Amino acid sequence: MNRLTKEEALTRYREAPLKELCERAQAERYRHVPERRVSYQIDRNVNYTNVCLSGCKFCNFHCRPDELEKAYTLSFEDYLPKIAGLKALGGDQLLLQGGLHPKYGIEWYETLFRRLKEAEPSLKLNALGPPEIAHIARISKLSYRDVLVRLQAAGLDTLPGAGAEILSDRVRRYLSPAKPTAQQWLDVMCEAHRLGLSTTATMVYGHIETLEERIGHLFRLRELQDERPAGTPGFRAFICWPMQLAGTELERLAREGKLPDGIELPGEPRRWSPDEEYLRTVAIARLVLDNVDHIQASWLTVGLETGVRALQAGADDMGSIMIEENVVSAAGAHHLEDGDARSGPGMATTLRSAIEEAGFTPWLRDQCYQPR
Ligand code: SF4
Repeated sequence: MNRLTKEEALTRYREAPLKELCERAQAERYRHVPERRVSYQIDRNVNYTNVCLSGCKFCNFHCRPDELEKAYTLSFEDYLPKIAGLKALGGDQLLLQGGLHPKYGIEWYETLFRRLKEAEPSLKLNALGPPEIAHIARISKLSYRDVLVRLQAAGLDTLPGAGAEILSDRVRRYLSPAKPTAQQWLDVMCEAHRLGLSTTATMVYGHIETLEERIGHLFRLRELQDERPAGTPGFRAFICWPMQLAGTELERLAREGKLPDGIELPGEPRRWSPDEEYLRTVAIARLVLDNVDHIQASWLTVGLETGVRALQAGADDMGSIMIEENVVSAAGAHHLEDGDARSGPGMATTLRSAIEEAGFTPWLRDQCYQPR
């Protein structure tokens, strides 16, 4: 198999007509998932705390530990109705994500995971991400591997690919200097793959990065996926979405002309409409990540119509009927809100109809892409 080189990928991303790019991506999609079927999942996103030391310039969700009127951490009792609501809608997975809390080390997470599993043994925990793992390792003075081993023993089932944004230290130093470097993000994922944990990979584009950095991101993921131990899934899926900038510090700094030399927003003058940029990015990801089985459409951020169009650009999965989401919606992605009628059984029906109208058969999957 001839693999795309970085130069070829960049040229195709920049110059190939959209139709041609999508057709090539569809051919690759059918190599991984031959059937005309599209999966989706039902899970619930729970943001366990908004207290965070990181202060990423694109994040409206977090607050500093001393912002007492805004800071929260869920109590254990808060989870119980959320789990009951999840089960009532036919879901079995919590996506647990939160800030980098200065006081929460390994024991805090072990206790939480154990109590959740005791309360509902069938519950699946798709929890944290490389930034939290690196943070726990630092404050608990443990290796990434030891953190992951202990969390697995406490109930961690899969590790989301959160906090990747763009795996370029030029970008990360400015946007999120307290988060792991690109290499540290990859190191956490490498340990997770060695332990056989199923993970995902993400990319958040459309801020200060260049197109070369986007393509470089995809190649770093591909290289790590090549190194996963035989018989392990590594990155089971890739998901990308445009950064939601509304109301963020980054947007304010750009508006006030306060970005430092060498930092521009957008990082490369936008050449496509937002929809075309999304479809091109999904398609080029499908082509570069020839060793990742699934590409997920991020309809929560780009909207259902564009999300469905991604099914013609290499995506084979529509992600989740997300029952609750606070982080991305805090920065302006209002395609779904907590309590929104679309987030319940009605949304499952809508999503299935949209998949069928696009010419595919919808099927409900679990977190390992097996039928439920
Ligand atoms: S994106 Fe995550 S790590 Fe960054 S400030 Fe927000 S909660 Fe903290």
